[in-house]
Amino acid sequence: MSQVYDRVALIGLGLIASSMFWAIKRAGLAGEVTGYARSEATRDTARRIGLCDRVCDTVQEAVEGADLVVLCVPVGAMGTVAQEIAPLLKPGATVTDVGSVKRHVIEAVSPHIPEGVHFIPAHPLAGTEHSGPESGFAELFDNRWSLLVPVEGSDPDAIARLRALWEGMGANVDEMDADHHDLVLAVTSHAPHLIAYTMVGVADDLRRVTDSEVIKYSAAGFRDFTRIAASDPTMWRDVFLTNKDATLEILGRFTEELFALQRAIRTGDGEHLFDYFTRTRAIRRGIIDAGQDTDAPDFGRGKANP
Ligand code: NAP
Repeated sequence: MSQVYDRVALIGLGLIASSMFWAIKRAGLAGEVTGYARSEATRDTARRIGLCDRVCDTVQEAVEGADLVVLCVPVGAMGTVAQEIAPLLKPGATVTDVGSVKRHVIEAVSPHIPEGVHFIPAHPLAGTEHSGPESGFAELFDNRWSLLVPVEGSDPDAIARLRALWEGMGANVDEMDADHHDLVLAVTSHAPHLIAYTMVGVADDLRRVTDSEVIKYSAAGFRDFTRIAASDPTMWRDVFLTNKDATLEILGRFTEELFALQRAIRTGDGEHLFDYFTRTRAIRRGIIDAGQDTDAPDFGRGKANP
């Protein structure tokens, strides 16, 4: 794979940024990768583990001369960071982000992008419940989707270059409109996370089942909820605050279906339950057939299959 950008700046050095760095290095996609995180502790860790070619103590230093700037901070912080870096962006550079919500990021970041700089929002559909600079690994994006969400008037050449970077990092790339993205992700990621948080919270509240029993017998299904519910609280708080409408719409539908299932259980309507579970099983089969999970008994919990 050949070099796509001379200099890439990663702002925020957590799971996604660190995985991007290792994936960029694996394929030689950039001449130099600079990095910046707001806390000294994160910058020290990054230096210790060799994350980024150059870790900078200021965001300005990291961004100066960069051909691509990637905002890898929580969705709620994107606007502030964009404002800080705006005066330093090189003409012709591209700014992108990896935020899990797109409409909000576009509204928060676009007003700060100077004339002559391209802004192409993106979102890799890959992650784990771990966070921080030490959690990343080069294979995170392999065979996962990364969605590009170009804004009106985005430059086709700048889009093509960003696509080449994501493909070089192992991802499959699609383009999508921001509102559709937020609805799709509400179904596939945001609502499921909220349900997992709720289920784990419910178990925590149940006093008739002891904590040790919940932990001991968790492989019966609960364990998978706990993995999702261990995800970063800041990131997920921001997701729900910024993808409010789509998440509430999906949760409304979820509640209706849950009531229907609850009724079927109460009235002994086995046919309803059986038909419902047959339909959901087919969806699981489709995900495996599409190569987005494995059929392994550990539910694909291996590192490369978060
Ligand atoms: P992470 O591991 O928690 O790292 C977040 C980074 O952002 C850290 O370097 C942190 O700096 C910095 N940061 C936090 N709050 C900040 C603020 N207010 N201002 C400036 N910097 C701040 O997060 P991540 O999982 O890589 O997620 C980063 C982005 O990727 C988020 O927008 C998230 O929605 C998106 N995303 C996440 C996943 C996933 O599964 N995790 C998947 C796809 C997309 P310090 O370390 O110095 O505190």
